[in-house]
Amino acid sequence: MDFRVGIVEGGSAATGKELQLVIAGGGPAALAAAIYAGRYDIDHVVLESWKPGGQAALTAEIENYPGFSSITGADLTGAMREQALKSGAVFKMESVETATEEDGRIAVRTDGGTYLADFLIIATGAAPATLGVPGESRYYGRGVSFCATCDAPFFRNKRAIVVGGGDSAVKEALHLTHVVSELGLVHRRDKLRAEPYLAKKLLENEKVTPYWNSHLREVLGDDNGVTAVVLETPGGRKTVETDGVFLYVGTRPATEPFTSLVELDQRGAVVTRNIVGTSHPRVFAAGDVTSNGFRQVVTAVSEGARAAAAVFDIIQQKE
Ligand code: NAP
Repeated sequence: MDFRVGIVEGGSAATGKELQLVIAGGGPAALAAAIYAGRYDIDHVVLESWKPGGQAALTAEIENYPGFSSITGADLTGAMREQALKSGAVFKMESVETATEEDGRIAVRTDGGTYLADFLIIATGAAPATLGVPGESRYYGRGVSFCATCDAPFFRNKRAIVVGGGDSAVKEALHLTHVVSELGLVHRRDKLRAEPYLAKKLLENEKVTPYWNSHLREVLGDDNGVTAVVLETPGGRKTVETDGVFLYVGTRPATEPFTSLVELDQRGAVVTRNIVGTSHPRVFAAGDVTSNGFRQVVTAVSEGARAAAAVFDIIQQKE
């Protein structure tokens, strides 16, 4: 069996031997599971892909995580990762490609090799959804973005459009108001889904023009990038000039590697039982990848901790 010796941080447990546990993911759910796995002395590896901190790390400001009235997503997840390392967690920057059952063990194949483990915690989170409209993929990275926290500096004193009405759209739109000259908010209904506190703060900002009951139908541009968007509004089709388009129209659970291992719902999320259990008795799931619904950092870390504790309980019972 080809056991990979990859970029290892925090120890050498996962190199050249079979494991008790693989934790797939690098966001708050995986980091909490890693903190507990380290403290429980479970022989494990955390496969965090190339995006340490997950989607939460890309959030400009988190205001609802207990203990912090304002902290950047990068700082919060960075502190969690440090804490996991201190607890004995072992990280590798590898992406999980498939996970299957083989001879009673779980074989996790990555872009670097294969791990055989007794248990798996799926905490791979969710990726931004796309609209599939003309121009969206063509201008991705040239005006179309899924991360205002990353790309806002490119839009200083320029115009931008945000699409969506959830917490992500509103939080990231608020972040953009600090740099852009004008911000359009395109939402398919006439009421935002986001926390009322955030929604009020955004709509009171004089830079913001809401386009209610409207849909983005096309992104227009030239060799330099985005120049305008075509909106379908209650008053008909309208071309609105803009330099950037930020899309926050929901997320897709990152479950492709696990389709043959656990039951998924219609969205592709891992169906959970008793919060972190799955259809497989030795596979647990935590955070945005699950069907649990309330997708917050505080719930992700709680589920990650519970998943590691569930693994520890089974190991204890066997000993
Ligand atoms: P979300 O809550 O699912 O919101 C997606 C938004 O996109 C909704 O407003 C939805 O419209 C709109 N939308 C979906 N498909 C669309 C389409 N095809 N065309 C146009 N608009 C479309 O996603 P999210 O904002 O990324 O949040 C994901 C989860 O993370 C949520 O549970 C959220 O609470 C959580 N989160 C929390 C925070 C926080 O600080 N508390 C921050 C970020 C995310 P409708 O409203 O009409 O459905």
